Order: sequence, then C-alpha cells, then structure tokens
Amino acid sequence: MSQAAGFNVEELRAQLRGSVFVPGDAGFESACLGFNLAHPARPEAAVLPDSTEDVMAAVRHAKAAGLDVHVHSTGHGYPHQASGGMLVNTSQMQSLSVDPQRRSARASAGVRWQRVIDEAAPHGLAPLNGSSPDIGVIGYTLGGGMGPMGRTFGFAADHVNSIELVTADGSLLSVTAESEAELFWALCGGKCAVGIVTQIDFNLMPIPSVYGGAVFFSGNDAATVMHAYGGWVHSLPESTTASIALLRLPDTEQFPEPLRGKTSVHLRYVHVGDEENGAALLEPLRRAATPMADLVGMMPYVAIASVHQDPTDPMPAWDGSLLLREFTPAAIDALLAVAGPEVDIPIIIAEIRHLGGALARGPQGGNAVGGRDAGFNLGVIGPYTPPLMEAVHAAGNAVLDALRPWAHGGTLINFQGFATSPEAVGRAWDSVTLARLRAVKRDWDPDSLFSFGYSMD
Ligand SMILES: Cc1cc2nc3c(=O)[nH]c(=O)nc-3n(C[C@H](O)[C@H](O)[C@H](O)COP(=O)(O)OP(=O)(O)OC[C@H]3O[C@@H](n4cnc5c(N)ncnc54)[C@H](O)[C@@H]3O)c2cc1C
Repeated sequence: MSQAAGFNVEELRAQLRGSVFVPGDAGFESACLGFNLAHPARPEAAVLPDSTEDVMAAVRHAKAAGLDVHVHSTGHGYPHQASGGMLVNTSQMQSLSVDPQRRSARASAGVRWQRVIDEAAPHGLAPLNGSSPDIGVIGYTLGGGMGPMGRTFGFAADHVNSIELVTADGSLLSVTAESEAELFWALCGGKCAVGIVTQIDFNLMPIPSVYGGAVFFSGNDAATVMHAYGGWVHSLPESTTASIALLRLPDTEQFPEPLRGKTSVHLRYVHVGDEENGAALLEPLRRAATPMADLVGMMPYVAIASVHQDPTDPMPAWDGSLLLREFTPAAIDALLAVAGPEVDIPIIIAEIRHLGGALARGPQGGNAVGGRDAGFNLGVIGPYTPPLMEAVHAAGNAVLDALRPWAHGGTLINFQGFATSPEAVGRAWDSVTLARLRAVKRDWDPDSLFSFGYSMD
C-alpha cells in the first residue's frame, strides 16, 4: 500500500498486463529515468503500460486514489519530472504501422522517430521528425514539432490526422478535426495536459532522400561564417532549411578530435530537392571559410540524424530558448560577444534555427502551434551537473538576454526548457490562443488530474 489513501498497488497490478513499480522495487528507478537526468522523476508509483487498456485502467485507478497523473515517454522533454503522484511511462507501447497507400503512419505512445523513419523509408516516405530521431513521436508532435524539413513542410502538428486520447475519466476518445474540433486544435501544438495520448496518426512525406548534412568550421572563423549565414539564409527557398550553432564540445573521447575541447561552428543544411540545386544554394556558405569537415551530399532520409548529430546518451542538461524577429548583423555580433570563441562560458550549444516558409502557415482550420510569425529560434544548452549548475544557468540566461533586443516576444513550447513559470510558458502562444488552451484544459480536465508538462496557470 502506498502513502496515497486508496492507492493499492496489488489491485492495480492485477488490472494491468504491464508493470507497476513503487519506490524500493527493482525496476522503479529505471521506470523513472529519462534522457534529461537533470531532475529524475520521483512519483509514488511508476506504471509501464503495455496497451491503451492499461493506460485507461491506470488513469481510473489514479483518479479514484487521488493521485496526480504524469506521463513520460523518453524523458527528452519537460525538465521537472513527476514528483509524487503516478508516473505513466509509455516506453513499452511500441505499436507502429505505416500505410504506404495513404502515406501515413500510426504510432503508439512509446515510439521514437528513428523507428518511423526506418519503417517509412522502404516506401520512399519520411516523417517530419526533429533534429534528434531519438525523441518520442507524441511528445514532439503535441508541442508542434519543428524539424530539418520544417520550412518545406511545416510543423509535424500540421500533418496529424487523428489522436487517440485517454481522458480524465479513464475513457478512450478518438479525436479528429471533425469529431472534437476544439480538442483536436488544442492537442496539435498546444501540448495541453488534458489526457494521455496513446496513439497518433499522421501523414508522411514522399521523400526518400535529401541533399543535406553538416559543415563544421573552425571557431576562428566564427564571425565570418555567422555573418555569412545571416545574409545568405534570407536567400533560401522553402525547399531548404538551415540552422547554425556555436559548439563548445567537452574535451572527451565521445567527440571527434577536431571538435572536442574547443569552439567550432556547425552548419546544418537540408535541401529537399536534387544535388545540383542543393549544392548551388549551399555554395556561398561553403565559400565563406575553409570547412574543417564538409559532410553535405545526397543522403537517404534514414541518415537524417547526421545533419544535427544530437547527443544520444542520457545527460543532465539545462536549456532555454527565445524566438527572434530577425538575426541581423548586430544580433550576430551580440551572440558572438556572449558565446563566441573568445568567451569562456559553460555552454555546449548556442544555435540559431531559421523558421519561415511552411512553418509560417498553419493547416486548414488552424491549430495551436505558436510562434509562426517568428524569423528564427535561438536555443541554448549546457550541462547541468552539480558544480556547474549555477554557472550554466547564469551563462545560458546571459546568452538569451544578449539577444533580447531582437526577440519576437514568444517561445516554441518544445524548446521551453527551464523557463517553467506560468508567465514564461504563456509566452509560447498569443493571448487569444492561450485563452482557448486554458478553456480546453478546464473543459477536459477540470480537477487537474493531469499535471505533466508546462503549466499555463
Ligand atoms: C536533443 C533534443 C533535440 C530536440 N530537437 C527538437 C526539434 O528538432 N524540434 C522540436 O520541435 N523539438 C525538439 N526537441 C524538444 C522535444 O521535441 C520535446 O522535448 C518533446 O516534448 C519530447 O518528447 P518526448 O516524448 O521524447 O519526451 P518526454 O520527456 O517523455 O515527454 C515530454 C512531454 O511531452 C508530453 N507527452 C509525452 N508523451 C505524452 C503522451 N503520451 N500523452 C500526452 N502528453 C505526452 C508531456 O507534456 C511530457 O511532459 C528536442 C529535445 C532534445 C532533448
């Protein structure tokens, strides 16, 4: 029996095909662990459901026992994980089907993007995954989902067909634009804690390959390359998505020799089209300075992870972000002054992602994705280990503050990071969208059973 009145672990175990762990059980710690080790989850019970029926039973049991319900899949997201209550860890829910005729896929709550990429590829199809294919399909899509083909096809949330949701009374609802218009609108980009999504059905793009990859420049060329990027990026058509990062990778064997222990510049480039056009568009940046490594070429979409080369090993990380109206020469100088090669700060990545194109347009009927009118996203990441925590927090915020004169005023909820106050979270949407999202939360979860993710109140 756990501390919560009415919570009976044996009774719940008897109702599920999956597992239930309480503190002290072998299996509890790993059920609570996710990618970001900054704040491990500390629930009263951790449930690993095997099926949608398991999720329904767990939610009903939590409600009856008076436990809050938290959810996590990979732990890449919300940095302040569950404390108390019941954690539903969906990582065992691995059903995935690809429908080549409809050019769509249907994924359960534990599926990560790389599996979708791998299973769509034999049909010449590709999903709108993010920079790291290790991320969960559902958490990413509910928060909008901006990836390496974003300017060409828009946010992942713009291509959702239907969502299967376990609601606060433990029942199952199929949510589409036709069946539950307002709820569907909110789930696509609003990251609204109104239930546990058990399956999502979304469209795939007819893209077997892209012209893309990474180009690494020396930190000595940071000013030249960043300024070249700032001018060049405005000339890119919607077929092309390019971002740039100042990298300061630790001096450890995990990273390749020319990059470790020093500052470098990482250009990420994806052109949805042929080699000739892709190479012609990239040429001015290739000529900006002599690359340390130029890894751009035609690549099968299954290799898309090599563009951003995001980390795959769990780590404690601090992150923050800011949408920018523009990335002018003065903004570039401000970024270099606070995070360039001459500065000694404990930040691993300060990146600028180019938005616009299809990201600026929503689907017919709209959805709750915010920040569509921004020009760029600034993202900052640092290690969040005990001796560095304060310094990383301060340095990360200093980078964000330095670029505030060019701020759009909002954030993308998927990059919200450590800014968890309701006021900061509210900036991910305009006031009208925020009011609609709050109303949806009140309608569907009036007692706030679901307390995961970023709270808007
Ligand atoms: C290395 C890295 C790279 C990233 N790159 C990108 C990128 O390119 N583009 C982008 O848009 N984002 C990116 N993100 C952010 C990422 O998309 C979000 O953090 C996302 O929420 C992760 O989802 P998850 O399920 O993997 O994580 P989790 O930590 O398991 O979940 C995070 C949140 O998602 C929600 N959620 C998850 N599962 C469910 C469910 N079944 N039902 C209801 N809600 C659920 C909850 O709010 C939960 O708190 C990146 C993050 C990291 C760490």
